[in-house]
Amino acid sequence: MKLADLGEFGLIDRIRKRVAHEDDLPVGIGDDCAVAELPPGLQLLTTTDMLIEDVHFRRDWTDLRTLGRKSMAVNVSDIAAMGGRARHAFVSLAIPDSLQVEEIEDLIEGLLQGCTHYGAALAGGDTCRSRSGLVISVTLQGHIPRGRAVTRGGACPDDLVCVSGTLGDSALALTDLMHDRAVDPRLLRRHLDPEARAGLGPALAEHDLATAMIDISDGLLADLGHILKASKAGANLQVAALPLSAAFRHRAGRDRGLRDLSLAGGEDYELLFTVAPDKWPAVQEVAGQVQTPISCLGRIVPERGLTILDVDGRKYHPSARGFAHFPEG
Ligand code: ADP
Ligand code: MG
Repeated sequence: MKLADLGEFGLIDRIRKRVAHEDDLPVGIGDDCAVAELPPGLQLLTTTDMLIEDVHFRRDWTDLRTLGRKSMAVNVSDIAAMGGRARHAFVSLAIPDSLQVEEIEDLIEGLLQGCTHYGAALAGGDTCRSRSGLVISVTLQGHIPRGRAVTRGGACPDDLVCVSGTLGDSALALTDLMHDRAVDPRLLRRHLDPEARAGLGPALAEHDLATAMIDISDGLLADLGHILKASKAGANLQVAALPLSAAFRHRAGRDRGLRDLSLAGGEDYELLFTVAPDKWPAVQEVAGQVQTPISCLGRIVPERGLTILDVDGRKYHPSARGFAHFPEG
């Protein structure tokens, strides 16, 4: 079926029927605004992320259900990076005429799967026609106990620089996709269907363990750069400490250009955070409770700048510096 036959309001009605009532959302989809309750003692976090066809995704690389899940995961990742828990999602869609209603419903299904998985509710959105590609814009609101939000600006000299999971898997998959090469399914899944660290972020914030935090969307170096700039500090990193998956090691081998994707690739959606050294045992315990592997990559130093050290203690110069939509200079 064509969307023109069902109509914008027909589609919205189908979406509305699939969303269950939530006690903290007295008015959800169907009115001019959503009305939501903010429980006492909590602050509201709001983030938004846009996914544009042929900029952020290609329809011949992903099915729409997976894309829907990813659209939700990348937003949950931002909420988790502040230490918050996802709650209300708003989804704005610009839909090209080439999409069938069945495909749009697949996309909605993925978005709703993402909501359910991360404990969020679909609370509204906007639906319009696109004269070019598909655009998915998700705005996500989340909750954080008052005063506990972890910003990028709190890293102090001597703090450990820590990261969850493994780095570079997603960027390595993307590189192989772009070169029309076979892609290891373990790497591909990390690129197309990433999992946000929705347990670790809140756990670190609620136990007051992280001094600064960010999620890695533009690559470790770029995103650590954001922490260092906001915290007015520098860092030393050990190349040997970079957490690499078995699939990544197998595919990258000794190829330096590929291995450097763990430093400069993007879309890892891991959490990068700093902690005071005496908090490291508590951090390990909390990470164990939420079953999230973490590693320590280096330290914050007072002098500005980022130094990457090779195994032999010499300075390491990676081949690229991370992703930017509008590169400077
Ligand atoms: P308005 O014209 O007042 O902005 P709309 O017709 O755009 O209202 O939307 C009607 C209702 O449907 C609103 O509650 C809106 O949040 C919801 N809505 C519209 N599109 C979507 C969507 N893609 N996903 C979820 N809710 C949507
Ligand atoms: Mg509208």
